[in-house]
Amino acid sequence: MRKEDLDKVIGILREEFPKWNAPVVSLIAQKTGDPFRVLVCALISTRTKDETTAMVCKRLFERIKSVEDLYLIDKDELSELLYPVGFYKNKALFLKEIAKELKEKYNSKVPDKLEELLKLKGVGRKVANLVLAEGYGIPAICVDTHVHRITNRWCLVKTKKPEETERQLTKILPKKYWIEFNKLLVAFGQTICKPVKPLCHICPIREYCEYPEAKMQTRAS
Ligand code: SF4
Repeated sequence: MRKEDLDKVIGILREEFPKWNAPVVSLIAQKTGDPFRVLVCALISTRTKDETTAMVCKRLFERIKSVEDLYLIDKDELSELLYPVGFYKNKALFLKEIAKELKEKYNSKVPDKLEELLKLKGVGRKVANLVLAEGYGIPAICVDTHVHRITNRWCLVKTKKPEETERQLTKILPKKYWIEFNKLLVAFGQTICKPVKPLCHICPIREYCEYPEAKMQTRAS
């Protein structure tokens, strides 16, 4: 994909987006506007299917409504609430540690700086950038497995690791798209540009894509 085609491609993805399932972190951000819930949900969502994250977040946020609630809840009860998300026991430990750090160092407020977010237990660049973008509306590119896979299929980047993808995208992608880029590509990646057997024959941006299957489909049509 040429850099010059990005405006058109993002315009098409925006138009199609309402037909797809929005990522659960975006829905929570839209519904609550609460960076704390965005952080908790983003952490839960790593290596977990969106349906499971949605189900667990609904249950969890009926019990946990603030940093104080998370600080006070018993670790075993938290683990039970998180089951069956991936690595739920580790995530319960991370969340307890995060609640302690937020309470003791940040006046129970989620920081809005990347370097501060990265100091929190279990928070990597993916979660931190998602908190900035979805929780605070600060331009940041969250590169998860969908963004990494799809931008490589487009040949917009040529990278092996998500961190490299983030670095390259910050140079290529106009800043005005940073906040929504993850949301659009996650929904697109869950519905059309799937990890295995992407649905190139019905893809609305096929003509811009460099993936071999896309080229074959474009030639055939
Ligand atoms: S054409 Fe295929 S590989 Fe390319 S973006 Fe669409 S679904 Fe993904």
